[in-house]
Amino acid sequence: MTEKVLYAELIPQEFRERLAAAPIAYLPLGTIEWHGEHLPLGTDGFQPLHLFQKLAEKVGGIVLPMLFVGPDRMVEEEGRELYGMDAGQLRPPGIQYPNQQLAGSAYRVSDDLFGQLFRAILKQIARAGFKILVAHGHGPSGRYFSSKFDEWKRDFGLDCFHCWEWTEEGDTLLSFQTGHAGVNETSTMMAAYPHLVQMNRLSAEPNEFPLGTSPDDARDATPEHGQAIINHQIERMSAILTKALAALS
Ligand SMILES: [Zn+2]
Repeated sequence: MTEKVLYAELIPQEFRERLAAAPIAYLPLGTIEWHGEHLPLGTDGFQPLHLFQKLAEKVGGIVLPMLFVGPDRMVEEEGRELYGMDAGQLRPPGIQYPNQQLAGSAYRVSDDLFGQLFRAILKQIARAGFKILVAHGHGPSGRYFSSKFDEWKRDFGLDCFHCWEWTEEGDTLLSFQTGHAGVNETSTMMAAYPHLVQMNRLSAEPNEFPLGTSPDDARDATPEHGQAIINHQIERMSAILTKALAALS
């Protein structure tokens, strides 16, 4: 039997044992958001869910359910709200198509509401007894989380970590969850959840760049690249978390 690591599946005794062994909470920062015609709408949460399950099995800790709301850039146009990749003003340079509400997105909350919700979740995580929090996923949610590590430590006593790797040149090839439904995210999904990816939904016409994706062409994604990303992050994050656990005692 594989080890149970999902918070919602634990009975109290399993929770007590796992918490005592490693007081790490993992929070997948999801959305229900357009990720191209080929990826599921929960792509942002599925990637950290997979990584966090692997990390919890290796290092210990407990994986929270996926959040499905998050902040994002928004413009109002002709009485409608457009988010993230919907609108030209919000897209990276060079990605052009008519502004439109991309199908399926149902996640966006204001920065203010997200901040209140996030603080309330962290309060509960700390109250339950966790000392370390790892959260990763949807870009704007992750940026908010990682901009306030001092505050989370001061107010909730939590040592916080994300899985981004920044260098002077920007993201590395094996960074976790970069771009939007491009090569990085598509490859990770192909490796972690092959049954949820439908590459045949993307046009075979080379000049038809996949709609609502960025910055590179998802059709260049491979499961091998995705597995390399996942393996690299498991190694990297387990070293970071092992050190953080040792520093607690
Ligand atoms: Zn994404």
